[in-house]
Amino acid sequence: MTSFNWNSALVKKYNINGPRYTSYPTALALEDTFDTARVKTALMGSNEALSLYIHLPFCHQLCYYCGCNKVITRHQHKADRYLDALELEMRSYAPLTAHRNIANLHLGGGTPTFLTEAQLTRLIAMLKVELNFEPASADEVSIEIDPRSCSLEKLAHLRKLGFNRVSYGVQDFNEHVQIAINRVQSEMLVRDLVNESKALGFTSINLDLVYGLPHQNSENFALSLNKVIELDPDRISLFSYAHLPQRFAAQRKIPDHTLPQGEEKQALLLQGIEALTAAGYQFIGMDHFAKADDELAKAQREGRMQRNFQGYTTHGSDSLLGLGVSSISQVNGVIWQHAKDLPEYYHFIEQAELPVIKGVSLCRDDQLRAALIAQTICHFEVNFADFAQIWGIDFHQYFADSIPLLESYQADGLIVMNSDSLQVTDEGRLWVRVICSAFDAYLNPDQQQYSKVI
Ligand code: SF4
Repeated sequence: MTSFNWNSALVKKYNINGPRYTSYPTALALEDTFDTARVKTALMGSNEALSLYIHLPFCHQLCYYCGCNKVITRHQHKADRYLDALELEMRSYAPLTAHRNIANLHLGGGTPTFLTEAQLTRLIAMLKVELNFEPASADEVSIEIDPRSCSLEKLAHLRKLGFNRVSYGVQDFNEHVQIAINRVQSEMLVRDLVNESKALGFTSINLDLVYGLPHQNSENFALSLNKVIELDPDRISLFSYAHLPQRFAAQRKIPDHTLPQGEEKQALLLQGIEALTAAGYQFIGMDHFAKADDELAKAQREGRMQRNFQGYTTHGSDSLLGLGVSSISQVNGVIWQHAKDLPEYYHFIEQAELPVIKGVSLCRDDQLRAALIAQTICHFEVNFADFAQIWGIDFHQYFADSIPLLESYQADGLIVMNSDSLQVTDEGRLWVRVICSAFDAYLNPDQQQYSKVI
């Protein structure tokens, strides 16, 4: 079992705002002057199979902690209009993707299960017709589920449509916590859905937990962790609640004094890591845990794991096409983002244009640094000679500016480094975002746009 401890001096020094490196450069580097023609070149420029992400932004009710791009509504017909727009968007992308297989589909949001069974059926039918997507021959067909919006019948319907992976937003089982975040969902509801998912043959079940929520403490969090472990999911995500009320209005409904602060919050993370690893889960890295026989855990052990906008993944990091409002794509060295609000998104679609508002093409330096950051964040070690050979550089010369920072991380015990390699220590795993930032050529001293590490 990996052992972790908090060193309070390190917490003070390194618990800073910083990127999560789901891409490099991060979304903040995307440029408004981006020419959409580059999207076409990127998609046409490779035959690699694509992963598809579709953003479905609607939710029935506002969770106060939420920082996602979502639209709260009770009007189901809004999803019909959105599906109309998605259909046209797929039609615009179709000539650019016809030569590529779609190996994976992920529905995120918002709440994808806001859609009725009929709307979900229509979405899959559109994907088949417009993009030649065939769920039966795809590797992964996955969906994020808000348990409150999914009946057992809808779950069975998803399975029939070809979904084989589910991810449930649990966040916390404690009722006091749930009331404070305006997301009350019973333990029985989650348990029934998880058990039914297993019975229906979903091959992977993930549960999301959040630490740092109002009224969480070590006693009630221990109970939530035990309940999650009892449900025996394949993967568990344990996210930090980022309280940014100046950015997200709904978070103003969470009074500061109800939040576990400082050491109390750090202790919750350690408690989570200890409980989950003791229960046999492999700590993949930043926020993610998986059973040892899970694909992700195997990919990490075999050096195949990657990172993309959805976090850790077994798929290529440079072949993700996002559809829908606010989605981000990365294909063949180009990153682009769609319009972030619905009126603007609809406006593009009505004009028969790709709804792209900004993007960036990665230069060779970006690609090289992206590869180094991905290697560090996914595998916690870098062999300098191997890396230098792949990229045709002298490692120490190329990263001469990064070396003093790396030496300070070494002095603080976050990494072990010699002239041949760098290895992230157990303690350093908690700060791997900070370690990666040594290779980031874009970092701005004012990083308030990013969340804190813990
Ligand atoms: S947390 Fe999820 S379900 Fe809740 S408002 Fe945000 S996107 Fe919707």
